[in-house]
Amino acid sequence: MREDSVKDDDRIISEKLSGIARKIAVLSGKGGVGKSTFAMNLAVSLAALGHRTGLLDIDMHGPSIPTMLGLSQTKAHSDGNEILPIEIPWSENLKVISIGFLLENPDDAVIWRGPMKAGMIRQFIKDVKWGNLDFLIIDCPPGTGDEILSTVQLMGRGSEAIVVTTPQEVASADVRKSLNFCRKLDLPVTGLVENMSGFICPHCGEETNIFKSGGGEDMAKSFGVPFLGRIPIDPEVVNSGDEGKPLVRSLDHTGSAGIFFSIAENISKKSPAPKIQYGG
Ligand code: ADP
Repeated sequence: MREDSVKDDDRIISEKLSGIARKIAVLSGKGGVGKSTFAMNLAVSLAALGHRTGLLDIDMHGPSIPTMLGLSQTKAHSDGNEILPIEIPWSENLKVISIGFLLENPDDAVIWRGPMKAGMIRQFIKDVKWGNLDFLIIDCPPGTGDEILSTVQLMGRGSEAIVVTTPQEVASADVRKSLNFCRKLDLPVTGLVENMSGFICPHCGEETNIFKSGGGEDMAKSFGVPFLGRIPIDPEVVNSGDEGKPLVRSLDHTGSAGIFFSIAENISKKSPAPKIQYGG
């Protein structure tokens, strides 16, 4: 892309994003830790709390947000100039856009090479018509590769990150890499979430820590970032995702739904997120 057209794009992107109060990138060290599940439940909860919320799914390794929201057959449309986010019939405050809404076949993106992905992300961020929002939640690809780097740079100043991890992942270097990535980019971390942390028996309610839990909290402390909470391994989380009926959509805010909600409430009260100063 020529240098002047990149500058034009950058100007358009920053004008477009200027109507969004908080842009939060949801990151994880690796795939399969529940990053998309968390991003989706956070966005639905924030919308239910009355915040105008956008959910942007740029996880091209497997855009799962359409399925989780029951929109797997939905295709995005444009008004001639811009891509229109999908409005969710059961949530007046939530709009969503996913690479999955633009693909003929959900597996198509997997074969794209790095530069193609980066170009797609740039175009996607530039072309979506969000309007004014209180929150934009971005479900990023896993890891700390070029795609996330370009996303965070395009999102610009004032962006924040939430890092999702699991008790097993805490033992690996991946989550540290994500936190160090934020530190290097001067990207404030709103907090760390430990997902799949313990199993609560649906019959007796007793909690079993299949893997050692609590490591996420220690890691958050060592990086000087807030710990947002632990979400247990919960069959309801899987079923609701597979069925396209988000757990937090119901008005019953007990169990895992209650945890997602209280994390969302907590985040909506916090501002701005602290930058990582030390540790790691
Ligand atoms: P990622 O975006 O990190 O790749 P996903 O959000 O797609 O991960 O989740 C991977 C799988 O784990 C999905 O089948 C999802 O339903 C399941 N999952 C996520 N969080 C939980 C949880 N707390 N309890 C049980 N299953 C979960």
